[in-house]
Formats: sequence, C-alpha cells, structure tokens
Amino acid sequence: MFSRNRAYSRNTAFAKANSRKIREFERPRRPDGTPVPVSEYFGCNTFGWDLMQQSISAADVAHLREVSPSKRKLTRELADRVAEAVKNWALAKGATHYCHWFQPQTGATAEKHDAFFSLGKDGKAVESFVGKLLMQQEPDASSFPSGGRRSTFEARGYTAWDATSPMFLMETVNGLTLCIPSVFISYSGESLDKKTPLLRSITAISDAATESLKLLGDKNAKHVVATCGPEQEYFIIDRALYEMRPDLVLTGRTLMGRVPPKGQQLDDHYFGSIKSRVLNFMMESEYELFKLGVPCKTRHNEVAPAQYEAAPIFEFANIAADHNQLVMEVLKTVAKRHDLVALFHEKPYADMNGSGKHLNWSLADQKGNNLLDPSDNPEENVRFLYFLTAAVKSVYDWGNILRASVASAGNDYRLGANEAPPAIMSVFLGETLTNVLDQLGDPSPFKGVETEINLDLPRVPVIAKDNTDRNRTSPFAFTGNKFEFRALGSSQSVSYPTTFLNCAVTDSLKKMNQMLLEKAPDGNPSKDQITEVIKETYESVKTICFEGDGYSEEWHQNALTRGLKEAKDTPSALEAIRDEKTKKLMVGLGIYDSADELESRYNVLIERYNKIRMIELETSLEMVMHHVLPAAHAQLQQRSETADSLKEALGSYSSVQKKELEKLCKLTDELIAKKEKLSILIEKCRNQEDQVKLGHDLALEGVASLEQIGHIANQIELNIDDDLWSLPRYREMIFSL
Ligand code: ADP
Ligand code: MG
Repeated sequence: MFSRNRAYSRNTAFAKANSRKIREFERPRRPDGTPVPVSEYFGCNTFGWDLMQQSISAADVAHLREVSPSKRKLTRELADRVAEAVKNWALAKGATHYCHWFQPQTGATAEKHDAFFSLGKDGKAVESFVGKLLMQQEPDASSFPSGGRRSTFEARGYTAWDATSPMFLMETVNGLTLCIPSVFISYSGESLDKKTPLLRSITAISDAATESLKLLGDKNAKHVVATCGPEQEYFIIDRALYEMRPDLVLTGRTLMGRVPPKGQQLDDHYFGSIKSRVLNFMMESEYELFKLGVPCKTRHNEVAPAQYEAAPIFEFANIAADHNQLVMEVLKTVAKRHDLVALFHEKPYADMNGSGKHLNWSLADQKGNNLLDPSDNPEENVRFLYFLTAAVKSVYDWGNILRASVASAGNDYRLGANEAPPAIMSVFLGETLTNVLDQLGDPSPFKGVETEINLDLPRVPVIAKDNTDRNRTSPFAFTGNKFEFRALGSSQSVSYPTTFLNCAVTDSLKKMNQMLLEKAPDGNPSKDQITEVIKETYESVKTICFEGDGYSEEWHQNALTRGLKEAKDTPSALEAIRDEKTKKLMVGLGIYDSADELESRYNVLIERYNKIRMIELETSLEMVMHHVLPAAHAQLQQRSETADSLKEALGSYSSVQKKELEKLCKLTDELIAKKEKLSILIEKCRNQEDQVKLGHDLALEGVASLEQIGHIANQIELNIDDDLWSLPRYREMIFSL
C-alpha cells in the first residue's frame, strides 16, 4: 500500500537519526598535543585594525577610522593601498575569491563572488585586486526586492564597502573567500539594504547623544556609540527527519503535528547538560565564529527540547549586526556537517516554546563608559537618569515603530503566546528605578530605595545596580546596565530594530536637549535644571512603564485604559512604517532620503509577509493531500476490513469498533471540507492584487484556515497507526539528537 511505503521511509529516517555516529569536533592542538587557546586564533580570519596598522601608514589608518557613510570620504588612492594590503593577506591565507557581502531586504545576506585574478596584456593570468573593486561593485541586483523603487530599466544598484566593519575570510570546504561588508545603494542614492539605514541611525544617535553629554557638562564629548549584544535562540533537528517534513523544508515550521505527552513541562531541558552530538556541533560552530572574530560567549539549552541559545559579548551596533548574520550563517553551515539542521524560525513547532532574539542595547561614550550604567558618582548618576529617561520616552513616543521593526510572519506566532512579550510595547524599569524616578525632585528623603542618599546632590540617590529583579515578560526591560528589547524574532536581522530604536532614542534626546536649552540658553544647565527635565519628561511618559506580568490578561485590559495599542499581526504592525509621523522622523534624521523610501520599505515587508503566508497555505494543502488524507484512507480501509471480518465471525458489527470507524470517517470528511475551502481561499488570494488588502486577509482568514486544518490533522494523526503515518512525529523530531 502506498501509505505504508511512505511510512516506511519515515521509519527509516527515524532509525537513521537515532543511529548517527557523532562527528567529534577536533580542537586545534599544538605539536605537543595541548589545545590552542581561543585567544590565539580569535579573529585570525578577519582583517581588523591591528592588521590594517601593520600594512598601511598611521595616517591612512587615522583617515580610515574617520570614514563613515556621512563623514569623511574614502579616497581612491587610500582604497588602492588597502586593497593591496588585504589582497596580499587574503592570498597568503589561500583565498581565491572576494565578494561584497551585504544585507538586501530579503532577511538574509547576499554575496557575488569574483576571482582575485585577471588577465594581463600578454594574456597571462595575474593575481589582482584594486581599490576600485574594494570600494564599489555592481551586482546584477535587479531581482532583489526594492518595493517599487527601481523599475527594471534602472535596476542598477551598487554595493560599497562599509569601512566600519572588518573584512573577513569565509572558509568553506571548497576554499576561502574574502568578504567585504558592504552597503547596497541605488544610483540615485537611495538605500536598498538594511545596513545603510542602520549606519545612518548610528550617526544620528551619536550626534544627539554627544550634544546631551555636552549639555550635561562633558564639553570634550566627541561621539557616542550604540552597543548591541543579540542573544540568539534556535532549534536543532536531525537532517533525515527534517527532510521528511515538507512544512519544515518549505516554510521553516511545522504546519501540523501533535505535541507529545512529554514536551517541555518538566523543565528538564532548560539549562540541562547539552547532548554530546549537539555540543560537538556547537564547539565546531564557535571555533568557526571565533576565527571570524565573533565573540561567542555563552551557550545553553533553552526551554523546549532541542532548543538552544548562543549569546555574544556586546559590540558596536553595526558590527554586532554583521556578526549576528554570521552567527546564523555559521550555525546553519556547521549543522549540516553534523547531519543536523538549525531552525531559526520563530515558531518551528506549534504549541511549543518559540525562538526569539533578545537585543541588548546601550550607549557608550568615546572612552567606552556605558551611559546606562548607574554609578555611585552623583554626576554620572544624573547622566544615567537622563539617558534612561530618554529611552523610556522613546518607547512611549515610538512604540509603534519598534513594534513594526519586529513584525514578521513567523514572529506573529510568538508575540503574546505566553513565552514572549505581548505585542504591546511597554518598559520595565524595576522597583528601585521606578521609585527613584517617581520621587525625583521631591525634597523629602527617598522611600523604597535601598541605598544611601548621596549628600552631594540631595535629589539624586546613589543607585546600586539592580540585577535581581528580572521581569521576563516585558518587551523592553532595563536589566541593570542596558535595555533588553525582547520582542525580536529569532530569524530576523537586528538591523531594523536597532535602526528604529536608535532613531526613537535620538528623537527623545533631541527633545530633552531642547528642553535643557530652553531652561539654560547658554548651554550650561544647572543640576537642578537637568533634574527638572528628567522629571518632567518621565512624568509625561510614565504610563508606558509596566512592572507586572506582561503575559496576563489583566495587562491587555490595563494597557487599553492607558491608551497603549496592540498591533496583533504583521500587516497591522507594519502600518507604522508608512505613518506620516514616522516618515517625518526618519527623513528628518537623514535615515531615508524621502518619504517614498519608507513606502517602498513597507511594500517590501508586506509583500514578504504575503508570500510567506501563501507558501504556508499551499504547503498545508499539499500535506493534506499527499500525507494526511492518504493515511486516513489507508487507516479507514484497514479498519473496515477488520470490522467486516469481525462481522463475519460474530454475525454483527462490533458497536465500539463501528464508532471508532465513524469517528475517523467524520474527521476525514471534515478535513476534506476544509481542504476544499482552503483551495478556494488560495485561489482568491492569488487573484488579489492589492497587497495591503491581501495582507489583512491572510492575517485573518489565512491564519485561521491554517489553524483549523492543523487542528483536524492533529486529531487524525492520533488515530493513525504508526506504520501508516508518513510524517515524522514531534516526538521523533525533538527527541532524536
Ligand atoms: P542575561 O541577559 O542572560 O542575564 P547578560 O546580562 O550577561 O545575560 O547579558 C546578555 C547580553 O547582553 C550579552 O550578549 C551581553 O554581551 C549583552 N550586554 C551586556 N552589556 C551590554 C551593553 N552595555 N550594551 C549592549 N549589550 C550588552
Ligand atoms: Mg538576556
């Protein structure tokens, strides 16, 4: 029987998964057998500042350090000298190709490889690479999404080296390629990628925060950097089982599947010891990442079985964004070597814990002082409260764009599903800080702040770092010396959320700076005036602060009374991107050249959402037709044959067996009916040309249809014999490692 054969391959895949030989990761060793410490190979595949210093002049290095998209221009001569240096280094390491490595609006990274060689006049091959090729490339990029910004006849865009992020060598089994981190821009100067807006937002926040520092008394402030540490969650599955699941292969998540009796409820996976096979994969991934200069610091098991987390040491935001892309790429590639697949989808298994990405974010001055770190120095504490309040205000004013920056088809299944913060933006500060801000400016002693009041400045207490109070349910939580934006989806690039966060905080800082200047037009506000601005700002935005359980139903009600909105799905959330207020902000800060650019970003995002949902609908339909219904029919046939033979033996049908048969028959009928409806829906959606309307339809009808089908398919799954069911079951997928 057809179904039996299919089930046979499932069983073979399961057996294969269970009998895998572990690929042992060989740590690099010295000739005497002792392991080489990480510090000796960390960054060996990056062309960082140390190598730059060794190969070009000090003046060139100084010039290069000032090159950023809006500041000093890179000259052709300097580019030539850098190109020569990097070519020599890369060739000595064995590289054969180079590529501009960039982040188009697809969510992934893109690269187009060129060989390091050219033909001389005499026709002989020579190794060559010049500044022009380093600075700029012209990929035939007409197929990248542009949201209607480029018609095909003017589809040309170019990639340009982002000198703020180090070049690196990507090692594959087939050789080495020099990757040049780049931005992707159209010939008319519009950004076509995710990196350009990020770099511009980094400049914007630096300018505003530097002005703040000057107003707060640091007249030597030159620049401020945004720092990020993205914690990455993901799932691991054996490759043979993965390949048997059309939904995982095509959509990254299971569209159906019964949760096994034992899942994550015993909490025995979270922080448990890591299984040997997975640990070997992790060690090899970390080894590759260390060579690329990615500072992977932490690894542990996550809540669900087969779920893990990797967290780096924080870095400058633009480098952190590149490095997070590398983390995802390397985990994927190394997983394959171990016959595993790394799943980055936000909800690979319905009804189980999903995966997110926590974006830890802060600001640091030119000396590296963290501006969100409370201290026992009263001057610094005023500064701390100033920046803290600006961040709170940014969520109050711009919660909608922060929500939009994390919106995706996958994240819709996670936000608000009792494992991730709800889709309502709020800020968690912790009890101590809330008390401090509530009582700021009040002459009586602080209540509820367990630290000594520093008498130098009677109205600002010494604030001890508070790491104890960890509210896991808040989308935007202060965690002692940084904010943790927890609503990001695991598969997304951190570029958008960081860009929008930087812009939102920039706007708040500018407004607060303006308030200071109004109070002290000479630019030297007194401590009292600064405290007043902090206090006034905080009072006007404090409804955004919420200390309670963000997962609770009460919070949804409470949030409504505070006027806080909840954009429940991606099409609703994305509207914020093309809001007039957003356009004014982003264009005003120089992040985008025109309001039209934001429309185009919106177009790309909504189309992407629609395409993903359409793929899910069509995959669901195929799975019903290719897997669930054939299994149900085979089971029905088998049961009716059994019932018939029983009738022959007993003289009448067994009523219990008849009921069982009828139940499965009814479920099968229901599924067929739903499948018919799904086909009609797919047809209707295919004919819908209005992408906005389509988005809303898919978010409602599409999602509902997927859920209904999944629900019936899962009931059928329970009623099917193991050897008639062709899809790997959850139990097999999450416990076979
Ligand atoms: P957890 O949140 O699990 O308690 P940590 O507090 O150690 O863990 O930090 C989590 C992440 O926050 C790490 O990736 C770390 O590098 C990052 N982080 C720490 N300080 C900063 C900072 N000043 N700016 C940005 N990220 C930071
Ligand atoms: Mg954390």
